[in-house]
Amino acid sequence: MSETAIHSPLNKVQQSFHWRSSIAWLVLVFTLLVQLAILQHLKLKEDRAARQQFDFLVETTVEAIGKRMVDHEQILLGAAGLFDVSGEVSRAQWRSYNERLQLAERYPGIQGVGFAKAVRPEALEAHIQSIRNEGFANYEVYPPAGNSSLRTPIVYLEPFNDRNLAAFGYDMFAEPVRQQAMQQAAETGQPHITGRVRLRQETHGKIQAGVLMYVPLYEPGRPVASIEERMQALQGFVYSPYRMDDLMRGILGAADPNLSLHIYAGDTEDPDSLIFASRDVPHAEPSQYREVIRLDLYGQTWTLRLESLPAFDAFFHTNNELVIGLGIGLSLLLFFLTSSLSLRRSRAEALAEEMTEHIRENKRALQLSEERLSLALKGSNDGLWDMNLDAGTFYASPRAWHMLGYRPGELQSDLTLWERLMPPADVRQAKAQLAQTMLSAVDHFTTELRFQHKSGTVVPVLIRGYIQRDRNGQPLRISGTSMDLTEHKRIEQMKDQFVSTVSHELRTPLTSISGALGLVNGGALGEVPGSMREMLEIAHRNSLRLGYLIDDLLDMEKIAAGKMAFDMREHSLGRLLEEALASNQAFAAHYGVNCVLRNPAPVNVWIDGLRLQQVLANFLSNAIKYTPEGGEVTLHCTLTDAGHVRINVTDQGPGIAPSFQTRVFEKFAQADGSDSRQKGGTGLGLAITKEFIERMGGRVGFDTSEGHGTTFWCELPVLEASTSSADQGQPRLLVIEDEPDTGRLLHLMLRDAGYAVDRVQSLHAARSKLATTRYEALTLDLHLPDGSGRELIDEVRSNPVTRDVPIIVISAASQFDQHDGDTGIIWLHKPISAAQLLIALTDSLEHARPFP
Ligand code: ADP
Repeated sequence: MSETAIHSPLNKVQQSFHWRSSIAWLVLVFTLLVQLAILQHLKLKEDRAARQQFDFLVETTVEAIGKRMVDHEQILLGAAGLFDVSGEVSRAQWRSYNERLQLAERYPGIQGVGFAKAVRPEALEAHIQSIRNEGFANYEVYPPAGNSSLRTPIVYLEPFNDRNLAAFGYDMFAEPVRQQAMQQAAETGQPHITGRVRLRQETHGKIQAGVLMYVPLYEPGRPVASIEERMQALQGFVYSPYRMDDLMRGILGAADPNLSLHIYAGDTEDPDSLIFASRDVPHAEPSQYREVIRLDLYGQTWTLRLESLPAFDAFFHTNNELVIGLGIGLSLLLFFLTSSLSLRRSRAEALAEEMTEHIRENKRALQLSEERLSLALKGSNDGLWDMNLDAGTFYASPRAWHMLGYRPGELQSDLTLWERLMPPADVRQAKAQLAQTMLSAVDHFTTELRFQHKSGTVVPVLIRGYIQRDRNGQPLRISGTSMDLTEHKRIEQMKDQFVSTVSHELRTPLTSISGALGLVNGGALGEVPGSMREMLEIAHRNSLRLGYLIDDLLDMEKIAAGKMAFDMREHSLGRLLEEALASNQAFAAHYGVNCVLRNPAPVNVWIDGLRLQQVLANFLSNAIKYTPEGGEVTLHCTLTDAGHVRINVTDQGPGIAPSFQTRVFEKFAQADGSDSRQKGGTGLGLAITKEFIERMGGRVGFDTSEGHGTTFWCELPVLEASTSSADQGQPRLLVIEDEPDTGRLLHLMLRDAGYAVDRVQSLHAARSKLATTRYEALTLDLHLPDGSGRELIDEVRSNPVTRDVPIIVISAASQFDQHDGDTGIIWLHKPISAAQLLIALTDSLEHARPFP
């Protein structure tokens, strides 16, 4: 195989794969791009939703802060109202008002609600004294304020406990941040809140930023239209201090908005003014969303910085890594799927191409083979024919038609065409023969048929056929060749003539020569001079040898041409053996060999006596020739199980060399040793022997052991002594069957059913039995060694004595050989059962006319 042949299919697949795989790559890139776009879109949408949510949270937070501050304002305004109504509010009234408000529960983050009284420096002492008089002996206003024109000590602060106690008496006006808010509140008459302060309440724990809200109080009834009037009428402030962390926790409540919140008291994000920072878990990444809002509250601007926390971002942003991972996985999957599909497709295409190439090659091979066939047929000058039994069609090639003088298609082709082309006399036999071939198990057959040429002459044709069968052995189609034998026959005839001429022409003078030499050597013409004797004997011996050779050659010729006629008769084997021994005694004596006959079997055989003598003479002469002087040659018989008798000729010769054993029965075969040449002979004897025995239904063989002699044997079917049953008044039947096993079986079946049975194996024997014995019925095999059973049927039916004897034909070919005029014949197909046979027999006996 060339290298290209090895690689090209693989290369094709690879190339194809590369080309196809670019599609897979394309799919990969495309799906990745699509994913990117989807991811982008998703991100945008997520962003929008997150931003909306963030804005919403910011809005609610800011709103909540504003609302709560308004609530606080309301509380303070309510307290202010209390003063407005009653001018003075006692400590007890203040407490009950506050208790009513339930600040701790409802407004977490308010440190308290207090009242800081505006005290002019001149009234300070009286003020201190009045408070001390209330029972607060240590009451002081602090811090000392030097020359301040206004003091605002905290007088009431509810709840009046805990941290708040630290603020009692504290002058808030003394502290600038508070002062600024108080001043503005007092001047405007509006609530104000402070910037970042440290509350007095930060006595312990973590210090929180503080903010205060003030609502100014004016003495009732006094004008408050201008700043001065308001400052003049200022009675004090109600206020609330707020610890910012607590306040914001109260506002934002438990809800965790996932936002980070920073509040600066002021309009910048100055760390010093930071009043609130949500307690966030520190995080590295910058916030996704942030917003800075300025909130104007009661004279202050709060700067609120709101930022989204990682949890918020995570909530709105799907896990990108996961999505990307999944997407890439999906793309890769698609990629592999596509490439595997393309690979498969490539393989399928490569396979298809390979198959197409195969088909093409087959087609080419078919064309080539058709061409060869047609050339071969042209060369051989044979015709071609084909019978399709299934389809009922018949085809013959132009040459087959020309052979009989027709143009193709000139006659209508069907399965019976061949019958129509035959001389009518041949049809019956040909059909029977064909039927038999069909029913047997053979696949090939060769037969010689005669057909009628268009011109009227008869053309001998050699038909060779092949039978195609189904599983049950039924023929489906028969096809083959036809060969015109006209020329062949003519040559054969010439050869026959030549052989007969030569044999006659050679034999006649040779007989004279041998005879004359025999006479001379025998001394009929007087004493032969010693000097000549040896030469004359050599001449005599060789003339005889030449005679044998011619005889053998003529026999061979006849056998080959199928012209050897066999006169088959029943013979006693013992007698034949005795004769054979007797006629070879002289030859044995000549070689100083003792020839004996042992246990000749008391059986009869159905053979041609002369031919068997020829066989035995050949065996014996060989055995004698090869047995050393003084040795012994034995002729003896054995019966085999299969109903055959074996005739053995055993010698004490050298045996046959293994190298020669396979060729012993071949024509002109002689062992190479000079010994065998010296023994003379033609090498044809055993070949002729084999032919003869096989023609008589037997077989030949030999057993040899080098140095210990050889036994040549032939086996022949035994004609059983009991072929004729003793007559005890039963109906007598004749069984005509050449196949010994079937014959014996029929015999047994009929004998067991109570019939007397005679059994013969040939037409000849049947004729002699019928001539001497009356039979109630016959069973007949159509195929007999000496002719067709059909002949016997015709003979029996034409003889007035046997005309009505029922005949049961038991044959493989029965269905093809029935004639319309056949009466009293029952056809049975082989193999048959006892029941079939007996029913047929009873039927036919009932319908038969009484035998005359
Ligand atoms: P031939 O005329 O030569 O005897 P056959 O056909 O009878 O021809 O024998 C063929 C050959 O077989 C003989 O030439 C011989 O070599 C061998 N052969 C035949 N019979 C015997 C035997 N009994 N012992 C040894 N060899 C034998």
